[in-house]
Amino acid sequence: MNKSVLTIIVPCYNEEEVLPETVKELGNILTNLIEKDKIDSKSKLLFVNDGSKDRTWNLISDYTKKYNYVTGIKFSRNYGHQNALLAGMNLAVNFSDMMITIDADLQDDVNAIPKMVEKYYEGYDVVYGVRNSRKTDTFFKRRTALAFYGLMKKLGVNLVPDSADYRLLSKRATEGLLAFKERNLFLRGMVPLVGYRSTKVYYARKERFAGKSKYPLSKMLHFALDGITSFSIAPIHLILYLGLITVAISIICMIYVIIEKCLGHVVSGWSSLMISIWLLGGIQLISISVIGEYIGKIFSEVKHRPRYTIETETYTNKMNKQS
Ligand code: UDP
Ligand code: MG
Repeated sequence: MNKSVLTIIVPCYNEEEVLPETVKELGNILTNLIEKDKIDSKSKLLFVNDGSKDRTWNLISDYTKKYNYVTGIKFSRNYGHQNALLAGMNLAVNFSDMMITIDADLQDDVNAIPKMVEKYYEGYDVVYGVRNSRKTDTFFKRRTALAFYGLMKKLGVNLVPDSADYRLLSKRATEGLLAFKERNLFLRGMVPLVGYRSTKVYYARKERFAGKSKYPLSKMLHFALDGITSFSIAPIHLILYLGLITVAISIICMIYVIIEKCLGHVVSGWSSLMISIWLLGGIQLISISVIGEYIGKIFSEVKHRPRYTIETETYTNKMNKQS
């Protein structure tokens, strides 16, 4: 069997508490695969330090010196999880045949990695890690996630339910993904658009090993909203329907008022007038904000700012030395 080079990309933001355990577990998986001759010995772990304020980068640097298979990227500041994944792929694609992205907190079962690699050799370009249980998530998170996937499906966005950013991509699938030049990244929506043969590997999602979630409710809501507005203009269609319904209602009201007038009834309409003003005002404000959301997207896209800035990285050097 022709051995392929694997790079495991791990975004890290203030993860000093979990990092030693993460390096240990992922290191074990990687060295095991190398020993079993499943992957090339040049395969690496690539930690992307997303502007952490704690000692995360110091730890990554230390591990880089200690273990040949550990490499790192240091961002100049915090650019967010999605950009960290992208930066990892952008570098890794130059040297590896397959890439796996996984969170640093060990919530995703690392034992799914060998299974993903198997699937890669079976000829799949995309292997999604799918959670078969959400027992460790709160009731609230489970409900909102379900509602989100349902909504996205209704909007015509093709997502793989219960899969996040734990997945394997082949080199050519990664190249396909990197050809998407948008600034507003929603990778889990973009990957299915790349195409190629894909499959799923199931795993049980665990509790965070240590540390706190970096995705508080507000950030999660923002991420969900970003996902919707980056992939669908259905909300704008909704405004049209809302407008048509209001116009229909107002025509009915108009006819009613004219008939009443002809019959000589005095129309005493203070309450209905007030209600209409408030209702229409509200609908208009909502409509403007929905349109504004899209204009904001266009604004941030046309500026074409860099998606991240790398302060330093040790991946390219190590890979070059070995080839
Ligand atoms: N992360 C990141 N940059 C950020 C926020 C998070 O690189 O601005 C990383 C974080 O270190 C972790 C992964 O993204 O490896 C997922 O974050 P987290 O586990 O906090 O999210 P949750 O699992 O709670 O949704
Ligand atoms: Mg997590």
